[in-house]
Parts: sequence; C-alpha cells; structure tokens
Amino acid sequence: MWYDRFLNIYKAGISHEFILYFNIRDVVDNFRFIDRYIYEEFIKQRNFSIVAFYDISKGLTFLEPEMEREFNKITSNAAEGLAYAMPSKLFHYIDVALKSTKMALFIDHAEKMIPSGDVASMSTEERMALIWICEWSNSPKISSVGSTIFLKANNLAEINNEVLRSAYRVEPVFVELPTEQERVGYIQHLLKDESVKMDITINDFAKLSSGLSKKAIKDIKLKSEAEDVPISFEFIKDKKHSVLKKEYGDVLEFIYPELGFDDIGGMERAKNYLLNNIVEPVRKGDLRRVPMGILLCGPSGTGKTLLVNALAKTSGFNCVKIDMSRILGQYVGESEKNFKKCLLGAQSQEPVIVFVDEIDTAFRRGESGDNGVSRNIFNEFLQFTSNTNNRGKVIFIAATNRPDLLDAALKRAGRFDKKIPVLLPEENERAEIFKILIEKYGFETDVEDFFPFSKETLNYTGAEIETVIRKAYEIANEDNIEKNMLTEDVLKKAINRCRPSTQQVEFMTMLAIKECDDKDLLPEKYKDVLDNRGN
Ligand code: ADP
Repeated sequence: MWYDRFLNIYKAGISHEFILYFNIRDVVDNFRFIDRYIYEEFIKQRNFSIVAFYDISKGLTFLEPEMEREFNKITSNAAEGLAYAMPSKLFHYIDVALKSTKMALFIDHAEKMIPSGDVASMSTEERMALIWICEWSNSPKISSVGSTIFLKANNLAEINNEVLRSAYRVEPVFVELPTEQERVGYIQHLLKDESVKMDITINDFAKLSSGLSKKAIKDIKLKSEAEDVPISFEFIKDKKHSVLKKEYGDVLEFIYPELGFDDIGGMERAKNYLLNNIVEPVRKGDLRRVPMGILLCGPSGTGKTLLVNALAKTSGFNCVKIDMSRILGQYVGESEKNFKKCLLGAQSQEPVIVFVDEIDTAFRRGESGDNGVSRNIFNEFLQFTSNTNNRGKVIFIAATNRPDLLDAALKRAGRFDKKIPVLLPEENERAEIFKILIEKYGFETDVEDFFPFSKETLNYTGAEIETVIRKAYEIANEDNIEKNMLTEDVLKKAINRCRPSTQQVEFMTMLAIKECDDKDLLPEKYKDVLDNRGN
C-alpha cells in the first residue's frame, strides 16, 4: 500500500517532501477530509501543531481554527488577509511556519501550480512556487522541526520535472486505487451503523467496484440513499461507468461481457487453450501457469473480440479495451501522459484482461523507432506488458489481421506467450455458428440441420454469417412470414443477397498460420504448412 512506502521513506529520513499522485482524492478530498488512515496513523500520532491545505483556487485553509491562530502568531499576523494570495506573496510566510513549528502542509493541484514544460516559459508565479517547493525539500531546518509537505497531483507527468531532479529531495509516491480487500474493509466501515439497502453482498459490492476510489464508492452509497434505491449490480455498474468515463475518456473502454464460450461456434482449439491455461489455473490459484500476453491473429470478423469477451466472462476477470488510435491521435505530449494514465487505469482493474484490437495500426514495424512520441509510448507499452509482477493478474491480449506488420520487439519471445490463429470457420463450425446466432437473437426457425447452409457459405466469416441471419430476419418480415420464421427458403434468399466480403482473407489466413508456433492450435488442414516451414 502507498502509505507504507511513504512511511518507510519518511522514517528513513530520506525526505520530508512528497508528491502523492494518481488516486489522490482518497488522501484528502475536496472538503479537506483527510483519509482515515493517514489521519489516525500519521497526523494524529505525530502531533503536528499546524495542518494546513493550500491550492490556488481555495487559498490557505486549516484543519482546526486554533491552527490558524497558531499560524498567525508565528507569522506575527503578517499573513492575515493573504489566504488567497499567490505563492509569491504567501509562500514566504508558509516557509516561516514550516521552519518554526511542526507543520503538515497539503498542496493540491500541484500540476496547475508548477506545470510541466520548459522553465523559461513559466510565469513568474510558477517560477516562484517552483523555487520554494524545491528549496523546502533541501531545508535541514524543516527536517529538524519535523514539518512535512505533501504535493498532490493526478498525473505525475503533468508536474514540472525540475522538482524530481536529484538536486532536490522531493519523493514521488504513487497512490494506488484500493485493492479488493481494502474495498471490502472500506465498505464494511461505510455501512457500519447505517441501514443502507443492498441487493448484493458486501463482497460483491467490493468486487464490482474495481477501479474505483474510496471516494467514488462513498458517492455510490450516498447516491443510493439520496435516490432511495438499493445498491444493486446495475446501480454500481451505471455509476462506475460514468466515473470511469470521466476519468479515462474514450481511451479506455470498460467491457461487461455477457457471452461465454458456449456462445461461440467452433474455435475448439483456441477455447481449450484458454480454458486449460487461464481459466483452470486461475481457479486453482496456480498463477505461474497463466500467460502474460496472447496475440490473436486472423482475418476480421472471425470472432477475436468475441473470444476475449468470453474469456473475461468465464474467468471472472474484468476486461478493458485500450483504443490506441485515440491515444495516438492526440497532441504530442498529451498522448504520452494519457497513455500512462490509461495503463494505470487498466491495471487498477486487476484481475484484468487488457485488450488492444488492431495492434498493428499502433505499433508497426520500423515506425515506432522513428518517431519520438510513438517511441516513448512503445517503450512504456513494452515495460507494461513485460512486468512479471502482473502475472496472473493482468493478461494482455492483442488482436491483429496483419501480424507481419508488427514491430519485432513486440513479437519477441516472452511478451506474447502464445500466438493463437483465429481463422475462418470450417463447414461444421459454420453450421454451429448459424444455430448459436439465431438463438442469440431469439429468432424463430424451423430449420434443424444447418449443414446445407454451411455448404453455401464457404469462406464466410462468423460476422458475415451474422449479417446473413439479420438479413434473413428482414426478409421474413418483408415477406410477412408468420412469427418472422427463418425458414429454409428465407435463409437461402438471405445467403444469395449477402456475399462474403472480398477482404484479403486468404492472405490474412496465411499470415496467421505463419505466425503460429504451436501445431495444436492449427486446424488439421494447415498442420503441414507448419511442418514444411523452413524447408
Ligand atoms: P474480430 O474481432 O475477429 O474482427 P468479432 O469478434 O468482432 O471479430 O466478430 C464480430 C461478430 O461476429 C461477433 O460479435 C459475433 O456476433 C459474430 N461471430 C464471429 N465469429 C463467431 C463465432 N465463431 N461464433 C459466434 N459468433 C461469431
């Protein structure tokens, strides 16, 4: 937990000035409530005579009125009326107090006060603040008095990196989101002496609120009280969706999978691999066996996304999708910052499947080395995907129809433990897909044997069979067929009207097979391709 890391640094006397970043609303919220833990364990126990908060918009405020009086006494009332003053005026007095008495100072929105960028382009106010903040970290006086300064920022990358230079002793501390266990504890505490209506158990509440701060969890409780509705799966899902959307924009998509492996036609080899190597070991707690990364290769519409969803549903992992095109489409600098935040956001959902579709469009061979922005992002990405601490907790799955275009560093052994080909369905698989999809849509049909239709749909992908079925429903409607029944005749008509797309299916299939290094994952008819490779 962040608090222990912070305390170790503090106790070792390494620093008395910290930048707390990421989940900072849980440290001190907008109403200046200090987190129970840091209040009870740190502030209270160490007898700070002044606990103060500063941010540019709210000025200088104090935890207790007598602390304000103490501050005024120390500064001989010279700072009275300066509560809303800018750093150039006020920080001198704060400096006096920090050096005279044991003071804890929380500075909020540090990234607004000392934003990242070239020092030469900073305003005078920003430079003054920067100088004070840097100097405080080196002050032996502050250290001996025992004063402590906490800067808070959402995103470390947005703070001027001058403060992080080794000449100063400002220590960054990553404040993570609460773990499931911590959420259970927090929810128990929240619901302690109140009769909040719950349709689910505390454990379910904790599980569903993955990725949320304590503050957001508290908001859910308050909202349920205000609206007088019980806390339910749907209620949390809704609330969580809006919180996360605000936090991560369109870059991270949170997927709530509804379909499982039974809703996928065919793909037995891929399904078995995932069941045996992910679902089973996770159930048994044998996380060493779980792959860190998987690459799904194959033409579009063959069910790669569907497979990821089904895996999430079956394994009980959360699932987030990173939209790389949105990240790379942002301004230089912006995209790097957002990418870091996005990875932290994804990680906060653990156990989680992190899915990147069309990964070749983001990390193409050769390109990621040339351009500064994508290089940084690429390195960040490589680091994230090779962090072995994540094994069994974060499974990274990428999909592509052009594995040949991927950067070699990404494909190197170790990063993707397995490359799974997801190919066009074979004849018997197509029959299965017809049946499954008609059931999924809840359409009526009097057809029992779908083999004749799979014979007519050679080279169709699963997605194209889905198009046929929807077309059939349209036709049944147009022809006024009773109950909109998908009869043999209707299905035939639909097939005639929907041709498979001319995407380079064969080419993409060959690429996927070439990429595969495990015979067990290949359909019989392609096995010899692997045997003949390298001859
Ligand atoms: P990809 O990610 O490979 O482009 P998708 O997973 O997005 O393909 O597939 C699109 C849709 O096609 C799915 O939502 C599903 O309705 C249908 N589909 C594709 N393959 C299958 C399959 N094997 N079984 C059932 N439905 C399938």
